[in-house]
Amino acid sequence: MIELLKEILEECYKYRKNGTVANYIPELAKADPDDFGMCVVSGDAAICSAGDHGKSFTMQSIVKPIILLLALMDKGEECVRALVGVEATGKPFDAFNYSDQALKCEHINPMINTGAIALCTLICGETYDEKFSRLLALTRKMANNPLLEVDEAVYLSEKATGSKNRALAYMLKAYGMIEDDVEEVLDCYFRACSIKVTSLDLAKIAFVLANKGLNGETDDRIFDKKHAKYINAVLMTCGMYDGSGEFAINVGVPAKSGVGGGIMAVVPGRMGIGIYSPSLDSKGNSFAGIKALELLSKKLDLSIF
Ligand code: GLN
Repeated sequence: MIELLKEILEECYKYRKNGTVANYIPELAKADPDDFGMCVVSGDAAICSAGDHGKSFTMQSIVKPIILLLALMDKGEECVRALVGVEATGKPFDAFNYSDQALKCEHINPMINTGAIALCTLICGETYDEKFSRLLALTRKMANNPLLEVDEAVYLSEKATGSKNRALAYMLKAYGMIEDDVEEVLDCYFRACSIKVTSLDLAKIAFVLANKGLNGETDDRIFDKKHAKYINAVLMTCGMYDGSGEFAINVGVPAKSGVGGGIMAVVPGRMGIGIYSPSLDSKGNSFAGIKALELLSKKLDLSIF
């Protein structure tokens, strides 16, 4: 497997400068587009890594499935569904565009910013500090890494410049979808996006989702298998944003990308994959990361279809 990963990285290295490193969060612009690493955790909890697999980067949107997971664990499916839907477009089958003057749960899903920001409000905790600490604790548990921390520079950079997320969050508030103080909710979301991981951490987190909620190393149950089913289904349809259809055809497994350049892919019952390459395509997904996953999926016949 290590040889295969090395081969794939070598073959995809030429793509690592296609696209651009995210710069709308100024601190992310410092990423090195030469970095390219990959890690696979498989059934027997065996770990295979290649390239710059020790490089750390921020999770960004890859934390969204964990926000969804904690909301499901804390409040249950009915409450989650009443706030955030699961459809990729949120549009009816004959829609020309959004002409609605209302924002409803069925318009958003947990893998877009509005959905994830709204779900932060469902996490249990007296304060937003406590909510975030519980989210970090769950992320550490899934990665089996008690050392995961927030990258303060990235967090402060997004907090200082996140006007669009502020606008989205105030829109949620305007439509009665969140009640709490917008700045506190956003602070939790920005800190969540700034949790620093490596490809290995992502592969381990993905493996727990592939393993129906069981930790691959200890066999401890971290969450109910019905939550893994829910999350993997949402990842399959919405995890790669507007590139989810293409990704379903070419790779064919649930996955989540982040503008930090990471991709986490879940191969149900088989493996968890973590990749890092910070140059992004026009949809905000790691360009070389997707190419590497396409190749790996072909070579190992990973598609669930
Ligand atoms: N923190 C980023 C944002 O909200 C996450 C986006 C992403 O990774 N796609 O803009």
